[in-house]
Amino acid sequence: MATSTGMEIIALEEHYWDPVITDTFAGPNSSRRGELLDRLYDVRDLRIKEMDEAGIDIQVLSHGAPSAQRLDAQTGPAIAREANDILHTTVKAHPDRFAAFAALATAHPESAADELERCVKDLGFKGAMIHGLTNGKFCDGEEYWPIFARAEALDVPIYLHPGYPHPDVIAAYYEDYLGKFPALATAGWGYTVETATQAIRMVLSGVFDAHPKLQMILGHMGETLPFLLWRVNSALSRVENIQTRSFREIFEAHFHVTTSGNFSNPALLCTVQEMGIDRIMFSVDYPFVENKPGVEWAEQLNFSREDREKILSGNVRKLLKL
Ligand code: ZN
Repeated sequence: MATSTGMEIIALEEHYWDPVITDTFAGPNSSRRGELLDRLYDVRDLRIKEMDEAGIDIQVLSHGAPSAQRLDAQTGPAIAREANDILHTTVKAHPDRFAAFAALATAHPESAADELERCVKDLGFKGAMIHGLTNGKFCDGEEYWPIFARAEALDVPIYLHPGYPHPDVIAAYYEDYLGKFPALATAGWGYTVETATQAIRMVLSGVFDAHPKLQMILGHMGETLPFLLWRVNSALSRVENIQTRSFREIFEAHFHVTTSGNFSNPALLCTVQEMGIDRIMFSVDYPFVENKPGVEWAEQLNFSREDREKILSGNVRKLLKL
């Protein structure tokens, strides 16, 4: 599939829903309706048609938020396993168009680590995606490190995706505006705060000293962190000897960024300046965002052919070993 630039395009924050997992959803993420639902539940004709129309060659599929993060430790592992097996069947039906990130029941970290290994070794998955809080907790706590240890050993990245904010945060920060502006708690702001906080906490936790080869991915042009990197680094570096490397050094060595749902030239230029061209990868956030505007934006980027190729497919091919 060649676009007007003639370049291959791979997108890696592209979601679907499976009733095996969504039947367990309750609350804000269960209220999706209409055409969006049709697209979320389709992993065949409609999806591929819309990929073709936009010129997207490959989608790396991931279950949509909150995915397996609200499952409990007892029932979660079996549900995630079943969903991953079904996703494997989806990819096998169109191996030239789809790849996959695993859903992990993070409430049971040891079994989530085992499931990641099964998905990578037996099913050919390319990593995993974690959606926000695990039943109210960020995943930088040491009880979750078995997952990151296994990702490092398997040499696959973990994608930190937004999830709905903590109920106390909703009540304190957003609630009075949600009637009129429900997206304030999600893509309008709340998702960003949650996910940037999760990434910052991971840097501070020491998990990257314990697992020096671990690689993470952030969507939405890095959830504001490239823009704030100087200030965050400056403020957190005032504490002496908290770790062997500065915040900046750790962030730049362990995080990759995608363009999902944030097709902004100024944001991209800032991200290139802070992260370098080799850590930026094209994504859409389908079906919450349409494919075409993303591809049209990527095609007008006034970068060298070599750099555009890296963003559109080269960097992700390297990171995910596609
Ligand atoms: Zn997304």
